[in-house]
Amino acid sequence: MEKKVVFNEKICKSCSLCVQVCPTNVIFLADYLNGSGYRPATVVNQENCISCAKCAHVCPDSVISVYRPVKLLQTV
Ligand code: SF4
Ligand code: SF4
Repeated sequence: MEKKVVFNEKICKSCSLCVQVCPTNVIFLADYLNGSGYRPATVVNQENCISCAKCAHVCPDSVISVYRPVKLLQTV
């Protein structure tokens, strides 16, 4: 399955804002540290992400990219 949300873990500062706004509670702080000594945010259950992009909007460091599935129209 393609990822709907991708985190640039190297620049996350563990502020948890994305964790708080996610309506489906799929974002958690990892149990390891990134190169700057922060626990980076990550998504544990991509299939439950609804691509709402609330996490990307609230992140102060532009860590998060959200992708929405594209529905292709068929013409006849
Ligand atoms: S796009 Fe929405 S549902 Fe998906 S991880 Fe971000 S806040 Fe949660
Ligand atoms: S809002 Fe951004 S900086 Fe804060 S924990 Fe989430 S991804 Fe990391």
